[in-house]
Amino acid sequence: MKDYISVDYYRLPEYPDEEIYLKFPSYSKFVSRTFETKEEAVSEKYITDVVCYKCGRTLRKKIRWFLANQKVYLCLAVCPEHGPVKAKIRIKKAEDGSLYVVKTAKITDEEGVDKLLARREEARRKRVEKNKLKRAAKKALRS
Ligand SMILES: [Zn+2]
Repeated sequence: MKDYISVDYYRLPEYPDEEIYLKFPSYSKFVSRTFETKEEAVSEKYITDVVCYKCGRTLRKKIRWFLANQKVYLCLAVCPEHGPVKAKIRIKKAEDGSLYVVKTAKITDEEGVDKLLARREEARRKRVEKNKLKRAAKKALRS
């Protein structure tokens, strides 16, 4: 891991060994190579793994990745030594239309955990709402 380097988003990594791992005092950042689809990106284990940036442990997840909105996945992992770690995956579009992932991880506190839980509830509520609308629309089409 390299410290304090800004990422050149104009030249994205093309291969896994060119992917970028950055470590800051209070969070870590990872920039992936490009993928065709978001599903392809998040099916890679190393993309969804959460590593504690203080001790390098691969962490156990307390709240599995959920879609907070179209482009953002969130999850909560826990380091046995450093406590709760909030991780975020942002799906970004490269200039050529392919997709890449920016993953950040940050040690958080109780307040951060509560916020994450609220985001998950919100996402769940929206999904339920959307499904209801879909069902209602289908029903209307049938009758
Ligand atoms: Zn740790």
